[in-house]
Amino acid sequence: MFFRKKSKLPASSQAASTNVACAQAEGRVSVEGWETTERVVRRPFPGPRGATALLRVALERAPYAELIAHAKESLEKEICGVLAGTVCEDQEGVFVHVAAVIRGAAAAHGSTHVTFTQETWNHIHETLDLEFPKLQIVGWYHSHPGFGVKFSEMDLFIQKNFFSGPTQFALVIDPLSGAVAICLNTPSGIQNLERFWVDGREQTCQAPKGRRPQPEFCAPGEAPLETEAALRALEARLGQLIQIVDEQRASHYRFLVFIGIVICAGVVVALGYTMYSNYRYRNEPPRMTQYVPVPVQVGDKTVLVGVGVAQWQVPPELNAIMLTLEREKRLLDEKAALGETNNENASSNLTNASSNPTNTADQPKP
Ligand SMILES: [Zn+2]
Repeated sequence: MFFRKKSKLPASSQAASTNVACAQAEGRVSVEGWETTERVVRRPFPGPRGATALLRVALERAPYAELIAHAKESLEKEICGVLAGTVCEDQEGVFVHVAAVIRGAAAAHGSTHVTFTQETWNHIHETLDLEFPKLQIVGWYHSHPGFGVKFSEMDLFIQKNFFSGPTQFALVIDPLSGAVAICLNTPSGIQNLERFWVDGREQTCQAPKGRRPQPEFCAPGEAPLETEAALRALEARLGQLIQIVDEQRASHYRFLVFIGIVICAGVVVALGYTMYSNYRYRNEPPRMTQYVPVPVQVGDKTVLVGVGVAQWQVPPELNAIMLTLEREKRLLDEKAALGETNNENASSNLTNASSNPTNTADQPKP
């Protein structure tokens, strides 16, 4: 893909310090220097908490579907366009939120490259101003129909010189395989991203082997790739473990909440029962209902004495005690009655015996 005669810069790029001038196969491309002075918007990242990447790139569902549809429209030639969005920030740092794609409508198509012409840029900026005045250009995309997502030297040249802002990225998609790769400039050179997010869900980027920049402290070879693969596996395993711990913590929390609810319900039921029983069996004092005059003979006079009739709901405990007392009293009375009758019998025998001493004395007489 080629850029040609780009007279207007991306909205995010303001004229500033550096000058980039370079020769290309098609002619001399000169870009007045620009630096990123993006407006950074504070908002939460639309993806999982703790998501990590060299640069977190989040696309909304509609623009990503539009990008795929655009790429699938042409399976013979490359297509291209720009990505419009917002540079955002949350507590974990800066991320890019893509909200729209603008097709490079008037781009000249070649079988293995596309060219941004003057009309292409005019169309892009008109669309941006008219339809997305609050968005800025955060990257560009193009397709590699059927030949993988390895960035060509020309792609890297464009990215390095035309989209060198720290939050501007290049996306290439193969509409036949569905593979996607994303790269961006970093202080240590162009690097591929390993993942991006669409509608909050993580998508894996295909990082072409050999294109991945080697760390400076490692000799070029296979060891860093192996180390990176091991690190990726470790990172994936760590992510799974964190997820398991999160799930266990959530289930533990649910269990504690359930226990708390059961205890609260028990306390409420006990309190309710206590209040109900206090109300049901509350001890009321005797209530006077009426007076009944009763004539009583005192000496030679008859006096009327008022007798109060009280109504009293005897508490069950007191009732039981009174019943017990009554029973014991009755037993005692019965015993006392029995004792009296025995005494009476004994005394009557004694009187019989004493009144008839002669009889008894005379009886044995033959
Ligand atoms: Zn390309």
